[in-house]
Amino acid sequence: MSRTWNFYAGPATLPLAALERAKNEIPDWEGTGMSVMETSHRSKEYDAVHYGAMDLMAELLELDDDHQVLFLQGGASTQFAMLPMNFIPPGGSADYVNTGTWSAKALKEAKIIANGREAASSEGDGFTRIPPLGEWNLDPSAAYVHITSNNTIKGTQYHDFPDLGDTPLVADMSSDILWRPFDANAFSLIYAGAQKNIGPSGVTVVIIRKSWIEQANDNVPTMLSYSTHSAKDSLFNTPPTFAIYMVRNVLEWVKEQGGLDAMERRNRAKGDLLYGVMSELPDFYRCPVEPASRSYMNVVWRLPSEELEKKFVAEALAAGMCGLKGHRSVGGCRASIYNAMEMEGVEYLAEFMRKFARENG
Ligand code: PMP
Repeated sequence: MSRTWNFYAGPATLPLAALERAKNEIPDWEGTGMSVMETSHRSKEYDAVHYGAMDLMAELLELDDDHQVLFLQGGASTQFAMLPMNFIPPGGSADYVNTGTWSAKALKEAKIIANGREAASSEGDGFTRIPPLGEWNLDPSAAYVHITSNNTIKGTQYHDFPDLGDTPLVADMSSDILWRPFDANAFSLIYAGAQKNIGPSGVTVVIIRKSWIEQANDNVPTMLSYSTHSAKDSLFNTPPTFAIYMVRNVLEWVKEQGGLDAMERRNRAKGDLLYGVMSELPDFYRCPVEPASRSYMNVVWRLPSEELEKKFVAEALAAGMCGLKGHRSVGGCRASIYNAMEMEGVEYLAEFMRKFARENG
């Protein structure tokens, strides 16, 4: 078997153990004579997977009793709309910190539904940094404050989360959920498309404060209401059973590796290695992101010319590494090094970067 070193931003590489388990269990899953994707979502066998995945998520994040895990559909993009529909009261508004493409899309949806306000932005600096709390112009009556914890395209990441007192804090953690331990209970809502750090596409994980749901608007269509999915533990309608099964496999792998402390150690070592290569070779590789805002999930860099960037990506592919092209909106190169990316893959990339600079510098 030959596995590619996969640096795609999402869908992204998954732990081999989670894939192997699925491979073995597809023809005959736990003696049922069928696969999990052929089984009723009302069966007791599926129940164990569904609640098992929720419990593992709650355990890894050390959630308190007022926080619940939901498995929804429609991607993180549907959360952009669901959040304001449910939580901006009539005549109210919500604050958004704009740190790039995905934050801007979230804000756009809030503006369609109600009054979404941009409370801060790093657009003036090309989104190369996370604006510190001191720069935020918050409205004390905002229904919530929304942040994007990791900016997949721009390669920036929050390294501290703000304490906003009684104002509910909401985060899109699509590209860094579970990358390290953090206080998930401080958030009123967290959402994440699974396809980067926790599984395949098709399921969106939502962590929600149950007491906040009680304050939600009640004129929301049934399927778009958090209260529907909360009351039925995400079994109101048919959930994406196979995707949830894969999330369960990935979360078991995270736990076996040593949980979020172990993830953080791995992820810091991987990110530090790539940023280290850039500081060794500053005339060849340039990271546009301010050091204090650099992401440990999506590492971005430029080469001296677009021609060299193309050559870099092509030669890396020939050497067994895919997905290193930067997002089409920003260009350059990007290595997405989520939890499942092994240190060995990043060491291989780092060596390739040094060799490429020697040959082309
Ligand atoms: N938020 C962030 C931070 C993302 O990186 C992405 C996808 N790349 C999205 C939201 C959109 O997610 P989805 O495709 O699941 O709607």
